Amino acid sequence: MPLADAIDAPPFVKASLRKLGLERRDDLVFHLPLRYDDETRISSIADAPLGEPVQIEATIVEVSVAPGPRRQLLVTLREADGDGSNAENEDPAGQPTLVLRFLTFYGSQQRALETARASGRRLRVFGEIRDGFFGREMVHPRFRVVAVGEALPPSLTPVYPTTAGLSQLALRRLIARARRDTDLGEVLDPQWCASHALPPLASALALLHAPPADVDAAALQARRHPAWRRIKFEELLAQQLSLRRAYLARRRQGAPVLAGTGELAARVRASLPFALTAAQERVIAEIAGDLAQPYPMQRLLQGDVGCGKTIVAALAACQCIEAGYQTAFMAPTEILAEQHYLKLRAWLEPLGVEVVRLSGRLRKSARLATQARAATGAPLIVGTHALIQDSLDFARLGLAIVDEQHRFGVVQRLALRRKGVNPHQLMMSATPIPRTLAMSYHADLDVSVIDDMPPGRTPVRTRLFADARRAEVVAAVRDVVAQGRQVYWVCPLIEESAALELQAALDTYAALGAELPELRVGLVHGRLKIDEKAATMAAFVAGEIDLLVATTVIEVGVDVANASLMVIEHAERFGLAQLHQLRGRVGRGAEAAVCVLLYQPPLSQTARARLKIIYEHTDGFEIARQDLHLRGPGEFVGSRQSGVPLLRYADLETDTDLVELARTLAAELLRDDPPRAERHLRRWLGHRDELLKA
Ligand code: ADP
Ligand code: MG
Repeated sequence: MPLADAIDAPPFVKASLRKLGLERRDDLVFHLPLRYDDETRISSIADAPLGEPVQIEATIVEVSVAPGPRRQLLVTLREADGDGSNAENEDPAGQPTLVLRFLTFYGSQQRALETARASGRRLRVFGEIRDGFFGREMVHPRFRVVAVGEALPPSLTPVYPTTAGLSQLALRRLIARARRDTDLGEVLDPQWCASHALPPLASALALLHAPPADVDAAALQARRHPAWRRIKFEELLAQQLSLRRAYLARRRQGAPVLAGTGELAARVRASLPFALTAAQERVIAEIAGDLAQPYPMQRLLQGDVGCGKTIVAALAACQCIEAGYQTAFMAPTEILAEQHYLKLRAWLEPLGVEVVRLSGRLRKSARLATQARAATGAPLIVGTHALIQDSLDFARLGLAIVDEQHRFGVVQRLALRRKGVNPHQLMMSATPIPRTLAMSYHADLDVSVIDDMPPGRTPVRTRLFADARRAEVVAAVRDVVAQGRQVYWVCPLIEESAALELQAALDTYAALGAELPELRVGLVHGRLKIDEKAATMAAFVAGEIDLLVATTVIEVGVDVANASLMVIEHAERFGLAQLHQLRGRVGRGAEAAVCVLLYQPPLSQTARARLKIIYEHTDGFEIARQDLHLRGPGEFVGSRQSGVPLLRYADLETDTDLVELARTLAAELLRDDPPRAERHLRRWLGHRDELLKA
């Protein structure tokens, strides 16, 4: 940290500031108010509205301590008249009074108030008035003794986010000093700013820290004010610069050129019982092109549930393996990793390619064997996040594939990247995210999209049933199985407790077993051992289980074409993305499939909105868009996804235009004026940028 930028404050103050993420003077300058108090005006005791922050100035009539087990300091104020003459000399009758009530106080405060009373000075108080026992009162207002005629502040009083031990006043002073000592270099071209209705940085900050009394308070509060837009733009620009720069930096690093004759991939294709779709062919070509470059691929493969991403990944693995390098294939759940393992083995082992698997739940000896094979060059290693544990070393990692990447955090993805010298990376996701979010969170990736579905799929029909009609649903299960089809029954999600969730699954399993004695019922849940889970799933795939009762462990990726009915219990507890994923487990064959959402009335408003969306839409992209609208981007992407809290001020849903603008300008700045880009980044991110460069 350059000394010139250090905050000048005692160590204990610095410790508090650090808790707020404020390490440098620039951080203080960009620490912006949550809201404002209006101390530019004085209301009269009689006319001030109740329950709203107001400022009163009045003379002190009485200072007393109410006795009893809970001592209280009571201060009675009476409206001062215009010339400030001593109100005690006047007839008090009819003058409204205000009682200030302090439940905790210091003797020094009491004495100061008494002195002020004796000398006829006034008290300026800020707080909310309510109707109390003694008439109008304020509890613990902010107060200050003022001289008669003392000027009112010219600007609104900022209220900053703070932490215990750091008062607003202290923080305000620190920020004011930092602002005075900081030279705010303008990064943007003034004309460009003007043409986009963005004020200069210095005036935007001045306004936000100290808005003039006549400011458009509503726009300020809603963060729509041009000054706010300028700050949000600065922040978004930093984010875009940072992501873009990380992308370019990785691109400058070397990676193995993965090129071969393509024979292995051709033989896998020849063994498939289906032809690839046009979109699959297109993304395969994009990926193949990337892998043959001497710098690492950084590609996200997006495509709705069931569009066929796995085979695309498998063909990429073929190219890597043929070039003599290893592929690591990571999935977020045991069940999915197991399923990928089986599928990849079926495709590749007949061609003489060894496939090994790694999972935290494997027996130690099996785990050690896989670790040994990874270190000695097994061509394809499939697993859960056990793949990124430190104990695992790859001999020659060429390609890292991350399935359902949105389920992994940034940190985990970075860890896998570090495993190889610099492997190519293919991330896959079925959670289509709206464009602004994609620009923001995937700005450091190239994106391929599978936008068609394999032919012959019939859309899943969704039906909503109140829990009271459960018997009808059970009857439908019986019918579907009688037709030779299979059924998933997903048990309620219980976020508070894994134990309760397990218990609910066990209960449902027992109940359905009793209601449907003629069916073969299976159960999978998160607590099963890996081979138990695998055995149950294998039996379901083989058609030896008719009805599979499951917790959300089957949420992602599981693929059984003969399953044509999905029942989701307590559907109102699930998120939209989860419901979409779950529903995507059926409708994979030519048979018409149905998804039954059982819900427990009464529904909350959001639950009702969610169920309506999932009922009306099957397109994952549209569902994601509506989900974003319902939840807002922070929750939509989740902290796991974003990893670094880069955006404090901008709102990805409402500030779309600014995101686009920032993206364009970031690319231009990095190309035309890297030092300027660097300055901007340093100001905004400081130390926080490190993670992104990893
Ligand atoms: P997702 O994209 O959700 O991961 P999968 O890769 O699991 O989807 O594919 C879903 C199912 O579709 C699998 O059974 C897969 O073998 C099959 N599939 C993939 N591509 C095609 C295709 N072009 N034609 C027919 N079936 C396909
Ligand atoms: Mg998948």
